[in-house]
Amino acid sequence: MSAKSKDGGGAQKHRIGLYPGTFDPPTLGHIDIVKRALKLVDHLVIGVGTGTDKNPLFSYEERVAMWSHESEELTRDGGTIEVQPFGNSLQVDFARKVGAGVVVRGLRAMTDFEYEFQIVGMNQRLAPDIETVFLMADPRYLSIASKLVKEVAMLGGNVTPFLTPHVAELLVQRCAEKKRKA
Ligand code: ADP
Repeated sequence: MSAKSKDGGGAQKHRIGLYPGTFDPPTLGHIDIVKRALKLVDHLVIGVGTGTDKNPLFSYEERVAMWSHESEELTRDGGTIEVQPFGNSLQVDFARKVGAGVVVRGLRAMTDFEYEFQIVGMNQRLAPDIETVFLMADPRYLSIASKLVKEVAMLGGNVTPFLTPHVAELLVQRCAEKKRKA
């Protein structure tokens, strides 16, 4: 899925970033972060966490497939994306494995900040060569959280303002399956 770099492999440094997350499912907020991260790096690895501790609604293979489905559209303005499952390894180890010098995270609220601040502090000690860059959530997507979108879907609400049409369709299907089984 990766393609040629913007500078065609010339003298400029090829910057690789890692955007890790659970993405259960990816929302328009996550998509916005990817689009903006692609202005900062040439190649972005989307690291999809297994999220076993979070009891995800979608398997990580499904979440990887969702990102792969969106990749073409996301790289239309340049840059390349690679979607990789991200198992039980430390974020900084995974960043090193994929050659990323930058980890990208999104910030929505003070609650995100406190959590991320602690993680960054630890990561700086573990891997001082890897920087974490925070992108403030776009005001249009500030209130979108995968967890809340799932709750809206389970209660039969309209999730199309928060997701791409493809992901919205998969979420509605999954919720219907869950309700049938309950
Ligand atoms: P995690 O389980 O690592 O928190 P998430 O899938 O919830 O993973 O989010 C991945 C990253 O995307 C995190 O940095 C999170 O703060 C950010 N993020 C989540 N939702 C949004 C949003 N609506 N706008 C901007 N960033 C977001």
